[in-house]
Amino acid sequence: MRCPFCSANDTRVIDSRLASEGDQVRRRRVCEGCGERFTTYETVELALPRVVKRDGSREPFSEEKLRNGMLRALEKRPVDTERVEVAISAIKRELMRSGEREVDARRVGELVMNALRALDEVAYIRFASVYLSFDDIHAFREVIDRLEREPSRIDTPRSSASEPKSQA
Ligand SMILES: [Zn+2]
Repeated sequence: MRCPFCSANDTRVIDSRLASEGDQVRRRRVCEGCGERFTTYETVELALPRVVKRDGSREPFSEEKLRNGMLRALEKRPVDTERVEVAISAIKRELMRSGEREVDARRVGELVMNALRALDEVAYIRFASVYLSFDDIHAFREVIDRLEREPSRIDTPRSSASEPKSQA
């Protein structure tokens, strides 16, 4: 692979390990030309269904969009990036497993909401409030009600910053 710093073609893998619970291979590389180090990620490419939007238009599934949407909701929240990657892999797996060629945007939104709910309640509410637009106020009310009925096990940080970090 070409060096992103000096464009030399001679780069060497110095470390290779699994990431995202085995869904990715993370490779540390060094450039023989300039000595800079960089990281690459390798993932399996499988067919994901096209996404049918509310207005009936179709677009290719975009992992980038999914990730950006989740990260926006998780901004400044105490959630490990690795856990977000695991959640994204799980959502993609779920979509591939369906075997369908198309999936409703709404279904993708539900999967994201479920994932965020397990990661962080604040992010969950943030995402839901954007995703379920204001004409969908009943659905949003349902989200809040559901949270109140079944609070998730995730600890939200309180005043004390020294709480022991639980291993996930
Ligand atoms: Zn280089």
